[in-house]
Amino acid sequence: MDELKEALLSSEARPTEQAAQLIKSSNYCIALTGAGISVESGIPTFRGYQGLWQKYDPLEYAHIKSFIKNPEKIWKVMYELDEIMQKARPNPAHFALSELEGKGYIKAIITQNVDNLHQAAGSRSVIEFHGNAKRLICLDCGKIYQREEIDRSVLVPRCKCNGLLKPDVVFFGESIPEEALNSANQEVNACDLMLTIGTSAEVVPANILPWEAKRSGAKIIEVNLERTNLTDEITDIFLKGSASQILTILLKEIG
Ligand code: NAD
Ligand code: ZN
Repeated sequence: MDELKEALLSSEARPTEQAAQLIKSSNYCIALTGAGISVESGIPTFRGYQGLWQKYDPLEYAHIKSFIKNPEKIWKVMYELDEIMQKARPNPAHFALSELEGKGYIKAIITQNVDNLHQAAGSRSVIEFHGNAKRLICLDCGKIYQREEIDRSVLVPRCKCNGLLKPDVVFFGESIPEEALNSANQEVNACDLMLTIGTSAEVVPANILPWEAKRSGAKIIEVNLERTNLTDEITDIFLKGSASQILTILLKEIG
């Protein structure tokens, strides 16, 4: 066990108090967020009970090959998802992260989410690791459209060049946008503290980021309803609870 873990375990402070201290004393703290942070905004996770993948097989519906083969079928689900995301608003966890950025404590958020809720909450330094569902991209010419520009009554939206339009999110079988990957790696190497919030840390390659951070000497604070494969391996402080509940407490403790 390293010195910090020992000190924390022997300390009488509550875990959130310890975490707040760690955030305050950090030089470069970043956050890695996942689907769990947006659950309280009304967006279900894909996995697990009531997850979308219970209804739709991801390899059938979220693989780039399936999309190209049968765009009509995939767009039907995409429209369904889009409706859920359009209704969603940032919750206290998104707002707390934005406030912590404003106070200078959080330097960047790397998000696996595609729901735009960090930006809607006012966070400025957001790396969209898996893209953003508000945008569409033409698979032929690469032109980007905003969702508002698209006629949603058509079964499959198309570009002016007649190319197939796809939500600008990373499907299975696609790689992470190079710019996002580079920026994320830079942030991970720069950080001395990483908050992982609402991520199962199972999706490759985003799940490698906390391990990379740890390897380069950063401490890890994990916020989740349940333990993950990070918890017993690299997490220094595990804060069990919902993202909005825990982030609200942290914000208060930080002052
Ligand atoms: P995941 O579904 O694999 O894991 C979600 C994690 O959040 C779980 O560990 C769960 O215990 C935890 N969780 C659930 N509710 C929570 C809450 N209220 N507070 C704190 N934690 C909570 O999510 P992932 O690791 O992000 O991987 C899923 C992939 O699917 C991502 O790549 C993402 O792109 C995509 N996705 C995005 C959205 C979105 O944009 N909102 C939604 C679903 C899935
Ligand atoms: Zn085009």
